[in-house]
Amino acid sequence: MTRYIAAIDQGTTSSRCIIFDAAGAIGAIDQREHRQIFPRPGWVEHDALEIWANVEASVVGAMAKLGIGPKDLAAIGVTNQRETTVLWDRHTGKPAHNAIVWQDTRTDRLVRELGGEAGQDRFRERCGLPLATYFSGPKIRWLLDEMPGARAAAERGDLLFGTIDSWLIWKLTGRHVTDVTNASRTMLMALDGLDWDEALLEAIGVPRAMLPEIRPSSEVYGTARGVLQGAPVASALGDQQAALFGQTCFAPGEGKSTYGTGAFLLVNTGERPVASKSGLLTTVGYRIGEAPTVYALEGSIAVAGSLVQWLRDNLGLIQSASEIEPLAASVADNGGCYFVPAFSGLFAPYWRSDARGVIAGLTAYITKGHIARAALEATAWQTREVVDAMVADSGVPLTTLKVDGGMTANRLLMQILADALGAPVVRPAVTETTCLGAAYAAGLAVGFWPDVESLRANWRKDAEWAPAVAEAVRDREYGAWKKAVQRTLDWVA
Ligand code: ADP
Repeated sequence: MTRYIAAIDQGTTSSRCIIFDAAGAIGAIDQREHRQIFPRPGWVEHDALEIWANVEASVVGAMAKLGIGPKDLAAIGVTNQRETTVLWDRHTGKPAHNAIVWQDTRTDRLVRELGGEAGQDRFRERCGLPLATYFSGPKIRWLLDEMPGARAAAERGDLLFGTIDSWLIWKLTGRHVTDVTNASRTMLMALDGLDWDEALLEAIGVPRAMLPEIRPSSEVYGTARGVLQGAPVASALGDQQAALFGQTCFAPGEGKSTYGTGAFLLVNTGERPVASKSGLLTTVGYRIGEAPTVYALEGSIAVAGSLVQWLRDNLGLIQSASEIEPLAASVADNGGCYFVPAFSGLFAPYWRSDARGVIAGLTAYITKGHIARAALEATAWQTREVVDAMVADSGVPLTTLKVDGGMTANRLLMQILADALGAPVVRPAVTETTCLGAAYAAGLAVGFWPDVESLRANWRKDAEWAPAVAEAVRDREYGAWKKAVQRTLDWVA
């Protein structure tokens, strides 16, 4: 009997496998962390083989917890950290280099050169994205420039490129494919037509022969080999798009914000790509089989939960991430302190890779409690800036914000967020929406669920936070935050 769907979520810090039943309830979870490799300041790499081993182990681990095998799985879905770039040898299957992670800023100079006179919006109309170190295209170009012989091998089709979805599906099934949401993060795909774009390939310097075939987010790509022998691999979605899907944001105007390493607010804009004038990304939301593609607007925040990790690992202010909540609650307010964590520059709506972080407003009064509070407020104010951009682009005010991700366990943060937005914040019962979205898309492909409407019935509210701060206070604090942001943009070492 095939009573379950497995979702593989290959994230920035860990890989996990969650097995869901037909009601969308979690049957088992297994998770493995992988190494973060920092060869130089601003560089972040992962070992793609380590990631693959962890994925396999987490799948085996999750199945063992339920006492099931691959024959009990109706399908497997894949969701992944986006933009992270893997190059591997078609014949040996060996990665040619460590994967370059989305946060990596080594392409800073290259990205400025590619912008030239036209600047960072040179390709925005075609691919919906500003030129930034974040996206895969410039990372591929950097690798082809740096590794002897790589360009010729890529042109022959011997050296392959994939984002993590593509790498995992290749390992699982032997097919070299990617889904349309992951492809939309490379800067190499045209939003109209949804295929690799000759002009972009030429300008960024990436040979077509190394690129995977672009497929819908939900269809059977192939049958798994190895530990998942025989199970259909039936979905792929970038993690944020998977969360949008898992939160059942199927109608235009529905959106969600996910708080993990970074934070990502996505709003469904329907069957047409909407251009942003306010620093948001135009991206693909999902495509279910041959149904029309659904687009989204996205506000990406590079540093959210990773600031909490930084306070833990680099400053030793807390022992574990959850300790930030009581520490921040030990003070009544931020004491005049503002923390802008522009560690990888600033993403939306600024897109300034040269920005660097600041803690502003320090006095002898400030304690570690104030720093902790300012760190949580940073996530809230960054969200507010993205929401303001969404409202400017769409003309529609925010009524509620659906949230998910590891940081949403922090109730104080949820209250601070509602206060910063002046709108209610709603958390669903299943906060593992990334895996859930990949499971839904895989289940739809094999008829485990009949249609998207049947999925809506699975969404349940767990908790809601209403704004509780006076408007004058909110406006004053937001003004102070913006002044602190200005310091990060003025900063030149
Ligand atoms: P990802 O999928 O990006 O790896 P997760 O959704 O697993 O991220 O969330 C992990 C992040 O959330 C970490 O950066 C961690 O610091 C942060 N985090 C976890 N628990 C809390 C908490 N109680 N308060 C604030 N941040 C937290």
